[in-house]
Amino acid sequence: MSEHTITVAGVAVDTRHWIGGERVASAQTFPDVSPIDGSTIGGISRGTAMEAAAAVAAAKAAFPAWAATSRAERARILHAIADGVEKRIEELSIVETTDNGALLRSHRRGVMPRVAHNFRFFADWLLKLEHEDFETRGHTNHVSWDPAGPSVLITPWNAPLMLATWKVAPALAAGNTVILKPAEWTPLTASLLADIAAEAGLPAGVLNVVQGYGSEIGDALTSHPDVRRISFTGSVPTAKRIAESAAANLTPLSLELGGKSPLLVFADADLDLAVDLAVEQYDNAGQVCLAATRFLVEESVAEEFTRRFVEKAGQLTQGDPRGEATDIGPNIHPLQLEKIDGFVQRAVAAGARAVIGGHRKDGQYYAPTLLTAVAQDSEIVQEEVFGPVLTLQTFATEDEAVRLANDTRFGLAATLATGDPERAERVTAQLVAGTVWTNCFFVRDLQAPFGGSRHSGVGREGGTWSFDFYCDLKNTVTSPNGWNNHG
Ligand code: NAD
Repeated sequence: MSEHTITVAGVAVDTRHWIGGERVASAQTFPDVSPIDGSTIGGISRGTAMEAAAAVAAAKAAFPAWAATSRAERARILHAIADGVEKRIEELSIVETTDNGALLRSHRRGVMPRVAHNFRFFADWLLKLEHEDFETRGHTNHVSWDPAGPSVLITPWNAPLMLATWKVAPALAAGNTVILKPAEWTPLTASLLADIAAEAGLPAGVLNVVQGYGSEIGDALTSHPDVRRISFTGSVPTAKRIAESAAANLTPLSLELGGKSPLLVFADADLDLAVDLAVEQYDNAGQVCLAATRFLVEESVAEEFTRRFVEKAGQLTQGDPRGEATDIGPNIHPLQLEKIDGFVQRAVAAGARAVIGGHRKDGQYYAPTLLTAVAQDSEIVQEEVFGPVLTLQTFATEDEAVRLANDTRFGLAATLATGDPERAERVTAQLVAGTVWTNCFFVRDLQAPFGGSRHSGVGREGGTWSFDFYCDLKNTVTSPNGWNNHG
């Protein structure tokens, strides 16, 4: 084992970058800390512009051969990566939980199988990717998806490997080479993915993983002229910086950003179902971009809804995310905890009432919180908290519900609880959101378009939309005339 390998819950993890098929160390490291107990897991290579340039060069060198690799072979390797993920689900799960504090049981049963599925899905989709030829005055139009080139993928800490592979899999399937930069608070599973991809036979330089702070290595990656695509998931301020550096080269961007999504509960809803959907919003300690953090409840059922919500939320167990019975783990970082508490304390000072929670707990935990008496234009209603903090407002009419739902700068998702299908259709048509769930939450199919409107994002990924983004689309028009007669 190299001096650069650390052991995380019994699993060996290399702390260096993975560039051109080799492990590369930086001169400096940064500490990776576990949110479970605040302990330092290890020192991780702290990338700079130098490693960014090396990774882009490796991706550029590997691109022609990977782009020319047949679809069938690319798909075969992606399935082999999925096999590797499935073999290591236990290891990936415990490493991810140690690194980001999300529930071990969710990683085991939901997240890591889904990581494998990301590779299988885009491998299979690649094989059936086609557009029917069409004719223009006897000429044939044929649409093809040409690989675009080296792609920089930058991801956040709330669902590290899940969100990374949601980009890595389609980018590789498309025939692009990749430079993945995971978040500095959760660098570990990306390093394991590099091992898994190499074992699966992915050629050197096709997937590169660089570590480090966004402010130090990020600009060098996103402003590099040899980068042909940038896909980013993270916060709005970072997205704006990335868009600025991408502008110099007109590098196409896909941005998956924050949200402040509503849960609309109408009086005709199955109230137990509505409460179940509402309590789900504490998942991952509220660190979910899609979370419906604003409850908008019809006045006539608001009291009963609140009563049942408080009862149900009171049954949640908060604690060590490795525990089988735990529902809510820690928040990612002391800075994040401070940010969450700042939002809550300012809201309370402005007149909000904490029906439950409203305070920190020991360690890196925040009490599940529900705030009422909040004004529509207040910070707590308008800004993403990214913690277990929800607000509740009431409405009198359907029009008012829609107006409140749409009245933020975001547009990622919306959830409706209603027993009336006509109302669901009417309301959905008026909502600004990339995804609307009716009487359900978080049902996601990779063939659906995914993304946000307004400040929640630019572009859509998923199914063919991913290939549209990662590829240069080409239309070939062929005349029926002009062929030499070889008859
Ligand atoms: P963040 O913007 O702080 O960081 C995200 C990534 O960007 C990290 O890898 C970071 O190192 C990198 N980065 C920072 N500065 C950079 C720069 N100048 N250049 C290049 N890269 C840079 O976001 P975060 O706090 O890690 O994640 C939380 C945010 O992500 C929330 O707003 C959440 O809603 C959003 N999110 C969105 C989705 C979605 O699909 N829409 C999913 C998950 C999270």
